Amino acid sequence: MSSTSKAPKNAKKSSLKERGNLFDIAMAQVSKAADVVGLTPKVRAILAQPKNELIINFPVQMDDGSWRMFKGYRVQHNNLLGPYKGGMRYHHEANLDEMKALASWMTYKSALHDIPFGGGKGGVRVNPSTLSMREKERLTRRFTHALGDNIGPEWDIPAPDVGTDGQIMVWMMDTYMNVAGYSDKNAVRRVVTGKTISSGGSHGRSEATGLGIVFCIEEWAKDNELDLDGATFTVQGFGNVGSHLANLLTKRGAVLVGCGDHGGYIANPEGLNPHKLRQYMAKTGTVAKYQGAKEITREEFFGLDCDIFIPAALELEIGPDEARSLKCKMIAEGANGPTYPEAETILQERGIEVIPDVLANSGGVVVSYFEWLQNKRSERWELEEVREKLHRRMTNTYRAVRQCATQRNIDMRTATYVIALERLQKSYQERGIFP
Ligand code: NAD
Repeated sequence: MSSTSKAPKNAKKSSLKERGNLFDIAMAQVSKAADVVGLTPKVRAILAQPKNELIINFPVQMDDGSWRMFKGYRVQHNNLLGPYKGGMRYHHEANLDEMKALASWMTYKSALHDIPFGGGKGGVRVNPSTLSMREKERLTRRFTHALGDNIGPEWDIPAPDVGTDGQIMVWMMDTYMNVAGYSDKNAVRRVVTGKTISSGGSHGRSEATGLGIVFCIEEWAKDNELDLDGATFTVQGFGNVGSHLANLLTKRGAVLVGCGDHGGYIANPEGLNPHKLRQYMAKTGTVAKYQGAKEITREEFFGLDCDIFIPAALELEIGPDEARSLKCKMIAEGANGPTYPEAETILQERGIEVIPDVLANSGGVVVSYFEWLQNKRSERWELEEVREKLHRRMTNTYRAVRQCATQRNIDMRTATYVIALERLQKSYQERGIFP
């Protein structure tokens, strides 16, 4: 577990791959916590590699009759505590090292919350905005068919991530149900989570990641005597996570003063209306050029005055330059892996605390677990029940991480891994290695 990846001079202009090996970065984070825990060499060695790495090349017929080849991935990092669990990403820069990092973070998220799941991640190397709905459906069904029994309700359970949504999850579920034998039609729907409500999804799943971040921010605000009513925040990424988060935080009185996505960046010190921004984005595909806000550069966005900054776009967006520019009091990582290790050191020196991804954005996997349970038991929980259960889990876990960080004098990211690693190590010690 060692890192050789360095932040490039200009994170913004480089492709994801050029930005550094995400798996090396993930391993370096874990390694720091492994030293604190005194993780045995055997457990270190097991967790340093995913159990399975699957790459599938498959053809899809396009609307004009032509065929195109696509590359799909499914990485299964660890299933000691339960079935592999993690999102499916459709992105034109999807690559194996990214999937390995994302899959490993899922292992730690589940272990952190003591949820009976392991960690997995997958997706397809494609820009979904270039596909029609019919093409997206054919691609999803063909990919799911090619995955075969590498996914399953008690084996590996996909969910939405960047570029995928509830509709895509429903196509995955339907394809799986049509090709795999099953004995219980209700229960088999839990082969994927994050489905639409009408096809077996849970109330509160689409907002869950954003709401989980808000619960973490509320706890941090209590600890640091920050009044959220009137506090200012900025969000990078206005997709599932960013838009729900902005909406929910605004409802608590906080003011969204800057936002940005792949199309550009905007600011308004008087506050942006997340609801209207979402409507605008649904029409144009981006928040850029939204009326009632000033267009700003990415550099200006990272220098905006605010109390809270939430990265909710892609990984490796906060390099040393961004860490030096940020004027916030704290960062809550909505995105997975948004911060370079070098940037984190600068943030610590500047007294900007980071609520790490594995904790902050874990509301998604928590409510995915609730959805999986509801399907398994043929139940339907009310929205308020889901929110209340999520609140309890997120605040209890936040408090456990805070306590661990304080007692051991470590940062919150390391404390998050310490709790997860201790759970995994205990189970490995009790079970041993077969045969
Ligand atoms: P999404 O596809 O709904 O939205 C992604 C957002 O990022 C979009 O607004 C897009 O414009 C923006 N973006 C893409 N490239 C960008 C760039 N180069 N610069 C600035 N913005 C850019 O995805 P999502 O589900 O909201 O996921 C966002 C992040 O949260 C990812 O890191 C994902 O892994 C993580 N996450 C998602 C969930 C979930 O439940 N969806 C759960 C945990 C973590």
